[in-house]
Amino acid sequence: MQQENFETIAIRLQAERSQYKEHSVPLYLTSSYKFDDAEDMRALFANEKEGNVYSRYANPNTDELIRKISALEGSEAGWATASGMAAIFTTFATFLKSGDHVLSSRSVFGSTHQLLNNVFSKWGITYTYADLDKPEQWEQGIQPNTRIIFVETPSNPGIDIIDLEWLGNFAKQYGALLVIDNCFATPYLQQPIRLGADISIHSATKFIDGQGRTLGGIILGSNALIREIEGFARHSGPAMSPFNAWVLSKSLETLAVRMDRHCENALKVAEFLESHPKVKKVMYPFLPSHPQYAIAKKQMRAGGGIVTLVLDGGVEAARSFMDGLKMFSISANLGDTRSIATHPATSTHSKLSEEERLQVGIEQGTIRLSIGLEHIEDILGDIRQALD
Ligand SMILES: *Cc1c(COP(=O)(O)O)cnc(C)c1O
Repeated sequence: MQQENFETIAIRLQAERSQYKEHSVPLYLTSSYKFDDAEDMRALFANEKEGNVYSRYANPNTDELIRKISALEGSEAGWATASGMAAIFTTFATFLKSGDHVLSSRSVFGSTHQLLNNVFSKWGITYTYADLDKPEQWEQGIQPNTRIIFVETPSNPGIDIIDLEWLGNFAKQYGALLVIDNCFATPYLQQPIRLGADISIHSATKFIDGQGRTLGGIILGSNALIREIEGFARHSGPAMSPFNAWVLSKSLETLAVRMDRHCENALKVAEFLESHPKVKKVMYPFLPSHPQYAIAKKQMRAGGGIVTLVLDGGVEAARSFMDGLKMFSISANLGDTRSIATHPATSTHSKLSEEERLQVGIEQGTIRLSIGLEHIEDILGDIRQALD
């Protein structure tokens, strides 16, 4: 039976059973593997044969996770890393050399910004930022030495969106690799490679784990690109642990049902906030008031679990709202069963200048909500009482 539907692949694509015929795939806590004989060892090291050698390279649990997530997102191959940042670092380090240029969306995850600004800049790699909603900035920003176009869509925390099909054609026209950080959307809501991206990256720490337990990163792409990633990763060691791969592969089994509920709850929160007099602005991809609503509808299955709002009254109002929340956790994380509130200006984006923050749509009164899986009435009730 050919399995094509997301939920079925997520549950039924499994590593081969061992002699014990387990129903749920076990955890393979072993750092290395034995060879049948000297010839078997030689062939495995020469890549003439498939098989496990050492867990820095591959392991049955990471293999299963990679095969599953590749099938879900429509990529030929993938690689698992210890964290989302290890995935981004590995991708940059694999494909960039001194003298290259990165054209990136302005609003990227704080640590990605630090990588471009403080790490790769030391190695002679330059970058330019462009805004997701301004195509002319992409045309102006591209250079003859632009090797990677890097984009987060939807962006964090501004929830801006770019047309991935347009961007795929743009990257091809200039011969650059298009790399998408698909963390906010997950493979369930958006599949960048099917829309023309070369590489899709996940922080599996967020919605893919979905329960705030493990770190993990995933890089997806063609066989040829992932072979290059492998060439760097095998010898530099950003490997995902078998335990985390085991947790994350099981997490994928429930991704679809969890995301459906995250999105349903988040849309209700966004609609409620939009009608509240103390709220200046709400950003959510599937609100018709979102400036790129039509693009969101075209390339995403639903709007995701993150809602960003701006309160009248600046930092004072934001802090008093956060402190008024009784159930929401105050945390910098997102994509958990538990609803979370973050104040980006004083936490995740505090290293940016006020001007840089305003450029990425973060005001003093901006709050990012990661909407969890508690009962919707309890979520709305907590927000309502905190606003009052
Ligand atoms: C969290 C996050 C990352 C980094 O992932 P880690 O697993 O924490 O290393 C990268 N991009 C986005 C959009 C994120 O939210």
